[in-house]
Amino acid sequence: MASTTSAGPPYPDLFREDGTCASSRAYEDNFKHNLMLQQWTGASTFKFPTRYAQTRFRTLQAKYFVDFPWLRYSLSTDGVYCAQCHLFSGPDSRVKTLVSSVLRDWSNIAKIVANHAKSEAHLANCDFADTFLSVMNGNQPDMMRKLSSQYNTLVKKNRQIMISITEAIIFCAKQNIALRGHDDDGGNFKALLSFQAKHDRVLKDHLTNGDPRSMYLSPDIQNELIGLCGK
Ligand SMILES: [Zn+2]
Repeated sequence: MASTTSAGPPYPDLFREDGTCASSRAYEDNFKHNLMLQQWTGASTFKFPTRYAQTRFRTLQAKYFVDFPWLRYSLSTDGVYCAQCHLFSGPDSRVKTLVSSVLRDWSNIAKIVANHAKSEAHLANCDFADTFLSVMNGNQPDMMRKLSSQYNTLVKKNRQIMISITEAIIFCAKQNIALRGHDDDGGNFKALLSFQAKHDRVLKDHLTNGDPRSMYLSPDIQNELIGLCGK
């Protein structure tokens, strides 16, 4: 029975015949997205070239594309590379094989790809790739939006804390209550803040877990706020 043979991978060939990369590896986002997601389902029916390597003729086996879904084939070089590392490793990556150049050594391919799969660099690039795909698929806000939203939350929280602290100072001033006692810890101001914190989750968290360098509770800050309130 005649079987249909696959013409080649569905993704473009990124290497030239001399084994060098055909581009500067500065790919468009859509290109990266497609290269990672396009699996070569026809690999099992493709007629891979046979080459003499280490004592005998060898041919690349299609099973590697199933066992290692990140493996991509370059038609012009009859070599393979890792999509994730090719796309996401830096230009000064120490490892070149499978990253910026193809692997063509079929006598050692099993060992090389298995080691590559476990390598720290590959796992880190897979993490980058997963984040990239999540952003591309709209499942995760991009980093700038994420940072901006974290910043806005922090600003909002600090503003709320400052309002609570200022309200305590204004209350003491209106009632003619001294802000501080003989020591800074036992003053009316701090007692009032502790009372407010019973009904104010953000203030409570600030008083309990706040960064000691930015508590806004020192006599200097109190005096500054009193000065501002008086303006
Ligand atoms: Zn890799």
